[in-house]
Amino acid sequence: MLNVPSQSFPAPRSQQRVASGGRSKVPLKQGRSLMDWIRLTKSGKDLTGLKGRLIEVTEEELKKHNKKDDCWICIRGFVYNVSPYMEYHPGGEDELMRAAGSDGTELFDQVHRWVNYESMLKECLVGRMAIKPAVLKDYREEEKKVLNGMLPKSQVTDTRAKEGPSYPSYDWFQTNSLVTIAIYTKQKGINLDSIIVDHQDDSFRAETIIKDCLYLIHIGLSHEVQEDFSVRVVESVGKIEIVLKKKENTSWDFLGHPLENHNSLIPRKDTGTEIVKPYTPVSGSLLSEFKEPVLPNNKYIYFLIKIYHTGLFTPELDRLQIGDFVSVSSPEGNFKISKFQELEDLFLLAAGTGFTPMVKILNYALTDIPSLRKVKLIFFNKTEDDIIWRSQLEKLAFKDKRLDVEFVLSAPISEWNGKQGHISPALLSEFLKRNLDKSKVLVCICGPVPFTEQGVRLLQDLNFSKNEIHSFTA
Ligand code: NAD
Repeated sequence: MLNVPSQSFPAPRSQQRVASGGRSKVPLKQGRSLMDWIRLTKSGKDLTGLKGRLIEVTEEELKKHNKKDDCWICIRGFVYNVSPYMEYHPGGEDELMRAAGSDGTELFDQVHRWVNYESMLKECLVGRMAIKPAVLKDYREEEKKVLNGMLPKSQVTDTRAKEGPSYPSYDWFQTNSLVTIAIYTKQKGINLDSIIVDHQDDSFRAETIIKDCLYLIHIGLSHEVQEDFSVRVVESVGKIEIVLKKKENTSWDFLGHPLENHNSLIPRKDTGTEIVKPYTPVSGSLLSEFKEPVLPNNKYIYFLIKIYHTGLFTPELDRLQIGDFVSVSSPEGNFKISKFQELEDLFLLAAGTGFTPMVKILNYALTDIPSLRKVKLIFFNKTEDDIIWRSQLEKLAFKDKRLDVEFVLSAPISEWNGKQGHISPALLSEFLKRNLDKSKVLVCICGPVPFTEQGVRLLQDLNFSKNEIHSFTA
């Protein structure tokens, strides 16, 4: 897992940490990465020392907790015990200690304005300050103003004028069960890679990259929504629709209250970004790996990374120089090698870079599964140029008669004699034929989320059981 910003959507519970550019970082000890911190926060360990109790903290009490092993910090009226986080803080312990036992809001805003500390430090929450530093707001009133595009200037921290035909805006709609937040970027060429959505509990946040700025929607939702959501982009007009599912089918009077930097456009240079993005390691080469199963030098990990030129971070990754650092976590995943036991038919459905998990599966299946009779890879891409490792795949299929490869293009630009279109019932029933009625089968599927979801539905319609399907999700 690379510690780099997403080219697609981080999962709803993901951490997206953005910090001001050029901020210095200290080397973290082994086992103290962001992923390790996330793991610790999910372990159920009592990180506050209060066994889950939330308390009201007076200023006097706060001041007492000013040591490394007993360090409380107040951010925007909420008090966190940051001692457990000390060793995980990329800026180092000393940086955190600057706010020990005090209100660190100002310092935090200077350094970490964008960090989603509410979710990051959720398990460290001690409680509220007894006297709240923040002024209470009439949220309903504010919401109306936001929706009317009249949020008072004082509450908006963006430096750009909120006017002119090209300034982004948003609106919301609802049905009985859904809430749609529509972002009008007013820019062509906006794609899924240009947006990060994160929502946790009632806090909803969407960052859209618009040229050299980030447009931020940041709202405390008025009602609860489910964890999963979907996002659509109408590229031709630059409209993004984020569809949230209501927990209860009631009508909402208002969307929610604005949170920090809501409805603002922030220059990107202010915001270095640090986001966890999963990548599946591949082999150095499909063919050599197949010929020589033992890696000549096991100190390399190979990733196949598609650079989205209008994307949030992959262009940055593209600019990395030899000697630059990228944090990599230990591996994660839920694919069990036992699925291959006694396997006879293996079907691989890959779309775009969703091919990456198939690389090692292909290598392993063709070399280590004696029972295997047939492997079929159906590889969906937009154009011929998008087909990753085409010639290696063709050579591999030529060498090993158990392997069939079918390329399917959804938007061929030149003359193309092969299959065209998207994943469909007709295509799957044509290709996914079991060797024998009762042969042991596994279908692996990976690609853009709508592709994978649709594929799994179609496979179930074709009577593949849940055990016979493995879908890879980022
Ligand atoms: P792409 O946009 O180039 O699309 C490739 C093909 O996917 C298209 O030709 C089409 O056949 C199909 N497709 C795309 N959108 C579809 C839709 N809405 N409905 C049905 N089919 C659709 O793909 P890309 O840019 O290479 O993106 C690959 C995706 O795979 C990314 O979202 C990436 O996150 C995901 N991925 C996941 C993993 C994993 O979970 N382990 C690994 C690698 C890639």
